Amino acid sequence: MQNAQNPCTFAAMETKKAYRDLAVFLGRFFEGKVQKISINAGFSCPNRDGTKGWGGCTYCNNQTFSPDYCQREKSVTQQLTEGIRFFSRKYPTMRYLAYFQSYTNTYGETEQLIAKYEEALRVEGVVGLIVGTRPDCMPDKLLDYFAELARKQFVMVEYGVESTLDRTLQRINRGHTYAEAEEAIRRTAAQGIHTGAHLILGLPGETREEILQHATRISSLPLETLKLHQLQLIRNTRMAKEYESNPDDFHLYDVDEYVELVVDFVERIRPQLVVERFVSQSPKELLIAPDWGLKNYEFVSKVDRRFAERQTWQGRLYQEMQG
Ligand code: SF4
Repeated sequence: MQNAQNPCTFAAMETKKAYRDLAVFLGRFFEGKVQKISINAGFSCPNRDGTKGWGGCTYCNNQTFSPDYCQREKSVTQQLTEGIRFFSRKYPTMRYLAYFQSYTNTYGETEQLIAKYEEALRVEGVVGLIVGTRPDCMPDKLLDYFAELARKQFVMVEYGVESTLDRTLQRINRGHTYAEAEEAIRRTAAQGIHTGAHLILGLPGETREEILQHATRISSLPLETLKLHQLQLIRNTRMAKEYESNPDDFHLYDVDEYVELVVDFVERIRPQLVVERFVSQSPKELLIAPDWGLKNYEFVSKVDRRFAERQTWQGRLYQEMQG
């Protein structure tokens, strides 16, 4: 076991933050501002149509991650053009990453998938791709395509890992195991493709100690970025029904308690891992709880303040996983 030594040095030099954030990461590849634009490319999900499972993950209502400009009936080009128009008024020199976010963006006929990615890359101002998907949905042929593309352009694959406990993955009907997530992440990183992961903190049945153990396990993987999200109960989901019939089975964090959890978590992750987000923001009309009424930047400043008050930093309690 080994504690990180003086890991604050990099943070002080690069961001003046107590953790490594996305701006630092993107700054390694691009000069100037780069903005992600979310796209709903009209793909489906194998955990909804019976290929991997039925009904989807218990917390999922896909409407929650589609901003207004990214609607299914609009083409990839149209969604990107509208997104770019919105940002470029304020930042004329900004460049963009096409973020295939909704549903499973590697699920479909390979040629059709590639056609959508290439369409995105042809839009003026787009300088790379970020593709969100499930760990059990990355065929070799597609991975080879991404590897080839990554030699010329910025390409990141972002896997929804959600938990490192199979017991939880089963309970939320993810339809894959943690071992499958590990395998997908290792295969992707081995091909030289930027690799990210997404975790939900506070899934039902997980103790605080178990949540903090995700930090050690996920840090042992060849990941470059990590997104953390608080558990949100969303209308018209199976989890919302579970909560209604058994609320004691859930622990919904209040904002200060979640800030504390985030700081504890980030103290335990590998110092080089980029922490891209701490929270997700679902549309108010779909959110049941917790409703903190905070914008992302307001939450981030609370986290920054807490890091400073506690005089701590990313990786301070990092321990390499044994065995
Ligand atoms: S969260 Fe992702 S994998 Fe799960 S059902 Fe929704 S779209 Fe499918």
